[in-house]
Amino acid sequence: MNSDLIKLGLNALYFTGLHNLMAQASRGVGVIFMLHHVLADSEHSFHPNKILEVTPEFLDTVIEAVRVQGYDIVSIDEACRRLLVPGNEPPFACFTFDDAACDIKTTAYPVLKRNKCPFTVYVATAYAEGKGNAWWLVLEEIVRQASELDVELDGDLRHFSTRDAEEKDAAYNQIYWSLRRDAQRRQRARVLELADKTQIDVKEICRDKFMNWDELRQLAADPLVTIGAHSINHFALAQLEEQEARQEMARSAEIIGDKLGRYPRHFAYPYGDPASAGAREFRLAADLGFASALTTRKGVLFTEHAGHMTALPRVSLNGSYQSRRYIDLYLTGAPFMLWNRFRRLNVA
Ligand SMILES: [Zn+2]
Repeated sequence: MNSDLIKLGLNALYFTGLHNLMAQASRGVGVIFMLHHVLADSEHSFHPNKILEVTPEFLDTVIEAVRVQGYDIVSIDEACRRLLVPGNEPPFACFTFDDAACDIKTTAYPVLKRNKCPFTVYVATAYAEGKGNAWWLVLEEIVRQASELDVELDGDLRHFSTRDAEEKDAAYNQIYWSLRRDAQRRQRARVLELADKTQIDVKEICRDKFMNWDELRQLAADPLVTIGAHSINHFALAQLEEQEARQEMARSAEIIGDKLGRYPRHFAYPYGDPASAGAREFRLAADLGFASALTTRKGVLFTEHAGHMTALPRVSLNGSYQSRRYIDLYLTGAPFMLWNRFRRLNVA
């Protein structure tokens, strides 16, 4: 569904007041927000990953909106405690940042610190080592630099003209989705081959964009910060053999424990959608002893989630929806109740 259509639906929900009628049933006991990058607004004409970015001003707005609505902002540990042992407490909100990008330390952290806002950063360890292939950012750079590209998509050799922003957007989307659906190791090999042809240094992009262990160690020293695991290579785990999926989850936590001196108790599934994390991954995360594991399935938290701690839904703070109105709407839970067809759990 495109974002204009979704906005139309969200606005209809808001301006009819339906969300307030639904709120009593749909609000739930808490919410986990998901973010990736916090960066000052930029005006690139070609910016396909902009949906993964919000501005520091918007982050401030969200924190304020959440507190005005009576939510406690809590750590992921405290969120788990409140889910498992419900008391007579106000609803809670949790802030989580996937991928541990550099801008979380430089741009998000000052806002979170000023607001005394606890948060969790989920680290994919190959990226912290400077050896990861952040293929979605590499592809962005390839398409930005190239004026034409020859790419094999699903068995056909395709020629893309990529001279202006419109052509670049069209090419990026088609190549992105072909790669996103591909077998995980072949996906990375295809991106490496394209990067070689365009003379783009995949490791340099990784080192530029993601925090290294020293930066993570400094951030982790603040009691506001929790570090969680996000696998080693950021593969869609459900696409791997079970042994490899288990290894990606278990080893990433061990590496983080070795490097930062504290073994992470929480996990976030890379991509986190049903094609990347399903029943097998939920079981693996529980077997490995994670106290929680987060998906990107949409939703707020209900008391029933206490029985599904390794399949928790989140609310994505997406760069295309940076408005206070949407935050107020999300907190009612109404859009997700409709999205999930009135099911409080979406774990199948
Ligand atoms: Zn991620």
